[in-house]
Amino acid sequence: MYRIGQEEIDAVARVIKSKQFFRFNSEGKEVQNFESELSQKFESDYVLALSGGGTSALIAALVGLGVGPGDEVLVPSYTFIATPAAVLAVGAIPVIVEVDESLTMDVEDMTRKMSNMTKVAIPVHMCGFPCDMEHIKTICSERDIKIIEDACQAIGGTYQGQSLGTIGDAGTFSFNHFKTIGCGEGGALITSNKTIYERAFVYHDIGSVYREVLNPLDSPNIVGVQYRASEIMGAILREQLKRLDGILDDLRRIKGKFVDELSQVDGIRFNKSYDIDGDCGTSIAFIFDDETSAKAFAAFEGVQGMRPIESDKHVYLTWGPILEHIGSHHPSLNPFHLTQNRHLNMSYSKDMCPQTIDILSRTVILHLDPNMTEEDVDQRISSCKSAVYIRGEIEEHVQS
Ligand SMILES: *Cc1c(COP(=O)(O)O)cnc(C)c1O
Repeated sequence: MYRIGQEEIDAVARVIKSKQFFRFNSEGKEVQNFESELSQKFESDYVLALSGGGTSALIAALVGLGVGPGDEVLVPSYTFIATPAAVLAVGAIPVIVEVDESLTMDVEDMTRKMSNMTKVAIPVHMCGFPCDMEHIKTICSERDIKIIEDACQAIGGTYQGQSLGTIGDAGTFSFNHFKTIGCGEGGALITSNKTIYERAFVYHDIGSVYREVLNPLDSPNIVGVQYRASEIMGAILREQLKRLDGILDDLRRIKGKFVDELSQVDGIRFNKSYDIDGDCGTSIAFIFDDETSAKAFAAFEGVQGMRPIESDKHVYLTWGPILEHIGSHHPSLNPFHLTQNRHLNMSYSKDMCPQTIDILSRTVILHLDPNMTEEDVDQRISSCKSAVYIRGEIEEHVQS
């Protein structure tokens, strides 16, 4: 969440004064309005807001698609643990796929890791970088594999003009503290598939099938959990959604300046992009030829660089419980022990994705802030230039 102000304060006050916090009371309708505003903005039929973050949106999407024991779900090696954890929450097995130099799912490795048991692929638009959706879609549709886009870090981004989250069968957004827009915690599921929406809806509301919104209900009854969004969340998110375009405009303008100024500099290379026009501008990634150069660049004063391999909780190496096959709170529910999953691909190890480790150890990420002043931007760009320039001088010196 980059921006918040009086509009959100007024929106929350409005809800408190109305004393209507429950989304299904006939008055209010903050959550319902937020859902229809989001679905209109992204041209998708259905949106479901959830209180349990992007994680609950991923779980609800998997429930919507009927994923469970006996199913493999492809997830990238570089994402928040929420992505594979959601797969385990529904009893299925996450199969971990390499990332390429875009820092998103490597389509070749994804194809290699597909089996007859693969039910869903979850490409993650990590750091606001759009995935290679055209190839992912082609390959998945050939094998009747469904796609859930994890757009938790990429709301408002596009791929070939289409909004991220609306390209696959379902998409997910997160509104937690660290995301582009937010309300503290919360998430949303977006889809144009009525069955996915209805199943997710009933699931997120404990199994309540009598809500007016669902009339008439086509899907069978299921029980669920309680991820209902409150009217306070809805009210804040409606204001946050109005801020989205302005935030993205500023992020993209700032990133554009970095790219313009740095793309000609010897020794600087950006990560590969599958759609630079649709990039959210939240982050810039530099990929170096070796780890030493990446380390020196990240540590240089003023660069404020982050090296995923050493400081990021999003690399599969940090997914302790998953690598150790502890897939649930109770051993009898552990998807890794279920007989239906016995023959699935679940052999994990620290060195299972060498390409990811190689790329991420040479990668430095800069997170951008749309509220940076021009002066801040210029200073940081000049630090980046000095970081490679000074290093180049040292290397020349050592060689001569
Ligand atoms: C933030 C995030 C999620 C969901 O996190 P929540 O805290 O549940 O909102 C899922 N996937 C990715 C890639 C994320 O960055």
